[in-house]
Amino acid sequence: MTKVLKFGGASIQDVGSIKNVVSIIQSFKNQKLVVVFSAIANVTNMLEKVVYEFVKQDSNPLVTLNQIKELHHNILIDLFEKEHIIFDTVNNLFLEIEWVLEEEYNNEYSYNYDQIVSVGELLSTNILSAYLELNDFSNNLLDARDVFKTDNQYQSAKINWELTDKCIKEKIKDFPVVTQGFIGCTSENFTTTLGREGSDFTAAVLANILNAEKVIIWKDVEGVLNADPRFFSETQLIKQLSFTDAIELAYYGAKVIHPKTIQPLKEKKIPLHVRSFKDVNKSGTIINSEINNNKKPSYIVKENQVLISISDLDLSFIIEEHLSYIFMLLSKFNITINLMQNSAVSFSICVDNHNHKIPLLIEELSKKFSVYYNMDLNLYTIRYYDDESISKVISDKKIFLEQKSRNTVQFITS
Ligand code: ADP
Ligand code: ASP
Ligand code: MG
Repeated sequence: MTKVLKFGGASIQDVGSIKNVVSIIQSFKNQKLVVVFSAIANVTNMLEKVVYEFVKQDSNPLVTLNQIKELHHNILIDLFEKEHIIFDTVNNLFLEIEWVLEEEYNNEYSYNYDQIVSVGELLSTNILSAYLELNDFSNNLLDARDVFKTDNQYQSAKINWELTDKCIKEKIKDFPVVTQGFIGCTSENFTTTLGREGSDFTAAVLANILNAEKVIIWKDVEGVLNADPRFFSETQLIKQLSFTDAIELAYYGAKVIHPKTIQPLKEKKIPLHVRSFKDVNKSGTIINSEINNNKKPSYIVKENQVLISISDLDLSFIIEEHLSYIFMLLSKFNITINLMQNSAVSFSICVDNHNHKIPLLIEELSKKFSVYYNMDLNLYTIRYYDDESISKVISDKKIFLEQKSRNTVQFITS
């Protein structure tokens, strides 16, 4: 049966880690494999910077683009002989970005974003596929855009399940397959992206449609922990999680899994194995349909949050009409609310700080309402909280807003 392996940027950040990934993949030799890669570490962030510089027109995006080229070139010269065709392939992919940058900016931010940022995944998969070939692991490089058919909601495109199902079944016949996470294609053949960190979701969709036996996502951590080790010094591995608990953790922002990943797996009861690419002997975390009654606290941190408080200009009540207008704007800008709270005179929302969309949202809201906002905040969520876990999180912080339900407490802090 098919196994889907997904490698994120952290696992392919340099020559050493790429060699490690190749040896992991080789250990699955002779199995029906689909291997999904994200862009090389930090490349998506750098490409985002290129887009931003192109749109803002206050600095030269080619400087950043050259840094991305150099990063890839340095990897190529260590992995391949000078004559290898991959050098041309990579140059051609960069040319696609340069063509976009040569055009006058057409005010279509999200469209331009997808045409530029998607190249990160095309680069990494071409490099990895060629390097696997060089290591006697012949594979079929599949352009995800040939099978992931989406709407034209650039930056967060939704897949057309019916068409995608048909294309995947038609195009994936011979294994092993190497393909890109995170990207898709509209019916007019324009490239789309599925939302940041979307490669986990790509792997889950492939597994669902191919009725895979399991998905393994390879991370720089041992598995799913009860807290992000970047913020908490003592963390514990969660050996098994139910699909439902995993959806909750991902929904509140546990970066280790993209929130959309679980549903396609839950539907077909396909287990998701989260493992360490640094230590393949560790058993990792299994996410499956077994219910687990272990209700120990889990901590989730979302950084770079904006808290926007909206009130009526004359300080009257926030009424339904206003709320529906606010939601309409959020939907127009495609902004997801991470937490919301209302009082007699104001309505507050906590959202991710997208550097392009948030100023536009605030500008629109300010035409009708009084708007206050705080940037650079953190949203802490504790699942299955108790007094001890709360004091661990908030003891030394200024709290802007707090919300408690039976199983979950959330704090917005500076
Ligand atoms: P990828 O390389 O696949 O993109 P990510 O960087 O998105 O991987 O996800 C792995 C990171 O997720 C870890 O390095 C860790 O800092 C973070 N993380 C956040 N919450 C958790 C958690 N509960 N368990 C493990 N890791 C977590
Ligand atoms: N490369 C994309 C990102 O960094 C997608 C992914 O890694 O899943 O968001
Ligand atoms: Mg990621």
